[in-house]
Amino acid sequence: MDNFTFDYYKSIFSSAVKNEYKIITVKEFFLDEYSRDDKILVNRIDVDIKIDRLRSIYKIFKELNIRASIYIRLHAPDYNILSIGNIKIIQDLISIGCEIGLHTELEDVGEYCHIDKKALLKKEIELFETIFETKLYGTASHGDMTPYNNLDFWKSNRASDFGLLYEAYDKKLWDNCRYVSDSEWTRWKAYEDGKLLENDRRTPIEHMDDDCKVLHILTHPESWYEDYIYE
Ligand SMILES: [Zn+2]
Repeated sequence: MDNFTFDYYKSIFSSAVKNEYKIITVKEFFLDEYSRDDKILVNRIDVDIKIDRLRSIYKIFKELNIRASIYIRLHAPDYNILSIGNIKIIQDLISIGCEIGLHTELEDVGEYCHIDKKALLKKEIELFETIFETKLYGTASHGDMTPYNNLDFWKSNRASDFGLLYEAYDKKLWDNCRYVSDSEWTRWKAYEDGKLLENDRRTPIEHMDDDCKVLHILTHPESWYEDYIYE
């Protein structure tokens, strides 16, 4: 049975360290801030719901002395990133070297609410930079059950037009990595250089056996729990 307990979450990253993976942020990947001789694990987290579970992730990363890029929604129906408790969670993560980015919903907000998407993104970046006192380098588009694809915004826009370095699905990373994601909640899925590996349900630890050079892991806090998924 697949294991999505925080104990197992911790073992993914301790295994990576044991297997000599250097764990880096998405920003460090796009800035080429790593040695080409190293195997790297690009560590990405999208916070769709259950932002409180970032507290468990913070404890694990602090203990292992590792970091991640964490993408936060401004339009989540289930959490308010501007609440004081949530600002403090993010400040804790920044204090251990994590990168914070926007988990964007530009097509959804723009189309449903008739808001100018470019102006909105600029304001969202400014807001995050003001609250978290950190420069924003990137976005990661949120996928949802709406008819819109939030990645479509980037068909006619460039990250650099907004003072950003990247969008997380940019080809430089997407086409050059083994991407392993928990986005199906109770099982893993994987892509190799942008192509789906059919029915590949291997865990990140099993992927490490392949010694892939760039392992890109995406996790979501809501997939992980201490004992029981709805705890
Ligand atoms: Zn998402």
